[in-house]
Amino acid sequence: MNIQAIREQFPILNQEINGHPLVYLDSAATSQKPRSVLDAMKRYYELDNANVHRGVHTLGSRATDAYEGAREKVAKLLNAASTDEIIFTRGTTTALNLVASSYARSACSEGDEIVITPMEHHSNLIPWQQVAKATGATLKYIPLQPDGTISIADVEATITPRTKVVSVMYVSNVLGVINPIREITQIAHRNGAVMVVDGAQSTPHMKVDVRDLDCDFYALSGHKMCGPTGIGALYGKKSLLSKMEPIEFGGEMIDHVDLYESTWKDLPWRFEGGTPIIAGAVGLGAAIDFLQEVGLDEIDQHEKRLAEYAYTRLSQLEGLTAYGPAHNRVGLVTFNLEDVHPHDVATVLDSKGIAVRAGHHCCQPLMRWLNVSATARASFYLYNDEADVDRLVEGLLQTREFFGHAIG
Ligand code: PLP
Repeated sequence: MNIQAIREQFPILNQEINGHPLVYLDSAATSQKPRSVLDAMKRYYELDNANVHRGVHTLGSRATDAYEGAREKVAKLLNAASTDEIIFTRGTTTALNLVASSYARSACSEGDEIVITPMEHHSNLIPWQQVAKATGATLKYIPLQPDGTISIADVEATITPRTKVVSVMYVSNVLGVINPIREITQIAHRNGAVMVVDGAQSTPHMKVDVRDLDCDFYALSGHKMCGPTGIGALYGKKSLLSKMEPIEFGGEMIDHVDLYESTWKDLPWRFEGGTPIIAGAVGLGAAIDFLQEVGLDEIDQHEKRLAEYAYTRLSQLEGLTAYGPAHNRVGLVTFNLEDVHPHDVATVLDSKGIAVRAGHHCCQPLMRWLNVSATARASFYLYNDEADVDRLVEGLLQTREFFGHAIG
């Protein structure tokens, strides 16, 4: 991978922040967008914009082709069996809420179990809390090992024949761990439960094959994978989606409407009430083309190398605690620096042009498990390289010095 050539395709990266060249290390929150994505959306609005599925005119059919073409790209990216299995959503949060509201609320009742982990993002935790409250099901947690990984023995011990839903993130946005989704899915299925995967942090960085994983649902966000904000997708097995009720009603999703009764369109449109996110889908399609052109395996390897380098260099800094396992991690490192509050770390780094995130990363239960209230996080993507890690290390040395002097 030629990182310099890749970086040049991201106009936003070519700027100075506070007098320093920008080092963007917050891609786990949202990735930057390449010119091809920006151009595709601009072209769509300049040449093809119309509403989809109903226009007889040329622009209407062009917009429909663009929107449905993007669905095909998502289906191919995930190796779904058909485009019927891809529902466009606003992002991972909306996709997971759709499964919780439509599937789980009718599948769960008193005495049933929903199994998740303490490392989940709030988006894959609160919807299940709500289902548990509404149905009387019990929410159970697979415990974490001291390094933040999941052991298969614990998965076996937590999932039981009473479990109806298991929902786990593929990749942690805090610990950087890659969870054993295929094995967890097998255990879920053996117990008669469906397997839901939060793919927000996996889809941007590695090849994903939903049929190989055999998961039942898989959620993703476009904005974390070089696409625009406001678009994401839910993959669901057709056998399950076809039995689920829509949760949003109105235009676009209906077949026939009478004064007192209505019927729904076929999959996937019955879950897409209202005018869809057409330009967003076009941008997501262009992002998928971009990622596939660079190569998801290459991106994966590049980031794993970078993560090892960053984890090793950061761990060598006196007073720095890096969280999560040392190996088999994705391109992010979450850390704390001695007694310096992570917000102060992020502020000093920003003054050097380095963008990192500080806070609870939408994982408050995990923060409590780590016994901290917040952390700083540097997250990498295909446009980052070792020089960015070196700038981060230099910035952290300056931060420590600054606060060391300040504290006296
Ligand atoms: N799950 C994980 C692991 C995430 O990192 C995020 C976003 O940070 C989400 C879910 C929610 O994604 P979105 O805000 O795009 O819906």
